[in-house]
Amino acid sequence: MNKIRVRFAPSPTGFLHVGGLRTALYNYLFARKNNGVFVLRIEDTDRTRYVDGAVENLIDTLSWCSLDFDEGPQKGGMYGPYIQSERLDIYKNTVGQLIEKKKAYYCFCSPESIDTLRKDQQNVNQQTKYDKRCLKLTTQDIEEKLKSGIPYVVRLNIESDQTVVVDDIIRGRVEFDSNLLDDQVLIKSDGYPTYHLANVVDDHLMEISHVIRGEEWLPSTPKHVLLYDAFGWERPIFAHLPLLLNPDRSKLSKRQGDVAVEDYRSKGYLKEALINFVALLGWNPGTEQEIFTLSELVEQFSIDAVNKAGAVFNIEKLNWLNFEHLRMKPDAEILQILKEQIDKSPPDYIRYSDEKLLAIIQAMRPRMSFIKDIFEKSQYFFLPPSDYDQEVISKHWKSETPEHLKILLEEFSKLEHPKKEDYEKALHQAASMLKIGNGKLIHPVRLAVSGVGGGPGLYDILYIIGKEESLRRIKKAIERIKPQ
Ligand code: GLU
Repeated sequence: MNKIRVRFAPSPTGFLHVGGLRTALYNYLFARKNNGVFVLRIEDTDRTRYVDGAVENLIDTLSWCSLDFDEGPQKGGMYGPYIQSERLDIYKNTVGQLIEKKKAYYCFCSPESIDTLRKDQQNVNQQTKYDKRCLKLTTQDIEEKLKSGIPYVVRLNIESDQTVVVDDIIRGRVEFDSNLLDDQVLIKSDGYPTYHLANVVDDHLMEISHVIRGEEWLPSTPKHVLLYDAFGWERPIFAHLPLLLNPDRSKLSKRQGDVAVEDYRSKGYLKEALINFVALLGWNPGTEQEIFTLSELVEQFSIDAVNKAGAVFNIEKLNWLNFEHLRMKPDAEILQILKEQIDKSPPDYIRYSDEKLLAIIQAMRPRMSFIKDIFEKSQYFFLPPSDYDQEVISKHWKSETPEHLKILLEEFSKLEHPKKEDYEKALHQAASMLKIGNGKLIHPVRLAVSGVGGGPGLYDILYIIGKEESLRRIKKAIERIKPQ
């Protein structure tokens, strides 16, 4: 069998959609599983939809997801260039072969006359399609029109009354009636190829063995197979992935939530969770296993096991997977991500050694679903509290509390390079000197250093923020909190 070569062929029209990520992932898994090659090709021939920076964003997002491609823009390869706008001559030359064989033809009809034709057909309830008028032009007519510079397109000459059969790994045999297909434009009047021509030519020239893409491309596939046949090229094997649906089974759309990978990334989802989640949108291993690493997916993925029924995008499942992957993540990896986030945080945030950051991670592990919860749920590690929880004040900050805390401050001041146990001993010592229960100090101190009533162990917090900062915060609280 020929080498397996697959491609992800996005159009740079904005952010990478989760559906696009799934297509990229399935291609990647299929390639890696079968010792094949994964190609990235940028389909940018529709200049009206081109968005600046989209290619860079796509490459950056794929690399964040660890979906490395073997050939593509920036990376190169034997089949380049991998950006379609750099291959325009190739499309023009190849379409010439089809014109010679009369499988394609020049069409000089103006957009206005095509519009009139469409309206006339609509008025009599006819299917709207081009009536092949220009197919009747003689060679001489064509030469004259070309010479006089009349704008033209090139169309595929689709024969009527044929059944076009597409064999699809996921959907089986799918038949299309050629009478329902319009003579597809292959080269537009601006000289650019349409998606259909460029896609087929490139898949052929890049020796793509399997075309794995979203179901929305299935209606285009009969045109593509007719193009392969017209060129006399071997068709690739097709696999159309099921649609992604909202929980109400409508097509996944921006209206019901985020659809860009970028959105999930900036919300703090782990790439491992997102990849795991996206892998299960249309595929499952046929076992109970739901949590997968990327390498487990490579081992277990099979394109034959992809379902054809639409896959529902369930955000709760993503949240659960994120929680599970975060639990599995070693402290050292969380540390790296946390440090990247700290680099972007405001300059007044307290900076810590790795050892202290690891202590924060350990203290927060049971309490976090996202790494950024470390900032959001326990900002006090990085900034002194700006206010204090009123309910905790009413409950625990009594008129005698300031005096008690002053005794505690004296005990804390004596400590040298204290560990968490030393704070604990000092607090017990102060409580016994004051003849009060430990709780009478623990709650106010927690409020003084964190501003809130819950969170990780108090002695962990004191150890992490350190002796000087702890003393400063307790003194400040004594000044600022009015006893109840
Ligand atoms: N450029 C198309 C897209 O944006 C690619 C479709 C295909 O994979 O053939 O999705």
